[in-house]
Amino acid sequence: MKQDLRKRKTLLQIKGIACSSCCKTSHEANVPALLRCARCRMSYYCSKQCQKIDFPDHKHFCLALYDLANLEESWWPCEGESEWNKRIVQHIRLLDDLLDRPATAAEKNFLFFQPKCQVCFLTPLELTSPQKFIPCSNCRVVACCSNEHWDIHRSKHQALCKTYEQVVECDMIQYERGGEGVLWAPETWDKSKSFPPLPADWDAYFAWRKAPSFIPKYARVASHSLSGPLTVLEALERFYKKNTLHSLEELVIHILGAAQFEIMSLMAYEELMHVLPDFKTLRMVLIGFDIPDSKNVSVDCCSLCTEAKRTRNIVFFKGAYHEYVQSSEFLTPHLAVGFNSGLYEDDTELWMPTVHCLIEKDIPCVFTSYSKSEADQDLATIKGWGAKIYAGAKKNKWKSLVPIVEPMIVDKFFHNNNFKTLFKGRL
Ligand SMILES: [Zn+2]
Ligand SMILES: [Zn+2]
Ligand SMILES: [Zn+2]
Ligand SMILES: [Zn+2]
Ligand SMILES: [Zn+2]
Repeated sequence: MKQDLRKRKTLLQIKGIACSSCCKTSHEANVPALLRCARCRMSYYCSKQCQKIDFPDHKHFCLALYDLANLEESWWPCEGESEWNKRIVQHIRLLDDLLDRPATAAEKNFLFFQPKCQVCFLTPLELTSPQKFIPCSNCRVVACCSNEHWDIHRSKHQALCKTYEQVVECDMIQYERGGEGVLWAPETWDKSKSFPPLPADWDAYFAWRKAPSFIPKYARVASHSLSGPLTVLEALERFYKKNTLHSLEELVIHILGAAQFEIMSLMAYEELMHVLPDFKTLRMVLIGFDIPDSKNVSVDCCSLCTEAKRTRNIVFFKGAYHEYVQSSEFLTPHLAVGFNSGLYEDDTELWMPTVHCLIEKDIPCVFTSYSKSEADQDLATIKGWGAKIYAGAKKNKWKSLVPIVEPMIVDKFFHNNNFKTLFKGRL
């Protein structure tokens, strides 16, 4: 899995600003310009050597892009965003056939985030040869096809250029760390056990957890993986009294609809043990369809936790939640979490029996959403299923600070765990 994450390209690579192999810009590689792959016309290299190194990974995808460019019926001029969206969805659908295997997430992203003019939606494969995109000289990831189109888009972009810069910074840090992005507060804890409540915001949190070495961009990336455990802590704070939380021997958390990101972020959940240092065993149960089918994994704790005889245990259950509930492995959790479930939109019929189980078993739950409108729709759906709401589509102060670019809508960003809904039992 780590190997696959390495193959992921950074935004600067996808946009043709950095070498697809070594990730250097032309400036960093000390060359006048990057070389463009002559066949696909979408990958760039600082040298022949770098192109050669990348070739084994690139050649299949390169051919598929070449074939795509020559499939006349799948190209139509896009005058507006909705046309561009229809076309990109069609292209991604074609990709599996062209590759003769399912496209990887990295390959799909390469198409989704390819450079495009923010005004007329022109893309690299449509450009006639001497013409090139003009990237923003500051953030470098936003481009227009001409100075005229920059004149139209510039004022709108100026307000967002800083956010795009943050996107690039976070992307680079995550890339350098092999896609993990797990940077988190040091292995210490507050002996006075002041939790709950949690501090007021992320800045106060990092100060409380004595992470002064975090410069802003690292703090931002750390918030991406810490957002999960802190959202959990705040929900525990809402559902349990301090005395109860401090008398627990064991904490059981269910993560619903878990996928690769939740697996990659698992290390950050040790933060639960550092903020709530009284319990001995943390049991995380990940339930979902996109996870390995392994049973029971013991995970090492940091040296301080090991000294304090704490243990962490992770269970993967590949399947639906109601199947897990009926299995012999079922452990009643202190909290069940659905991160960015989008349950109103995707797999609603799969989420329904899950939420019904949670309601019937009176399990405290927190569900998060990327945006306010999604949170409102998730809330309406959960309410419709009869849940008693404790907090409905509220802003989550422990949202991830990493802005994620929405590929289908120009200049739109979202955040993991941006809004939250808490519920428990039946109304
Ligand atoms: Zn290179
Ligand atoms: Zn190529
Ligand atoms: Zn244009
Ligand atoms: Zn910019
Ligand atoms: Zn620890």
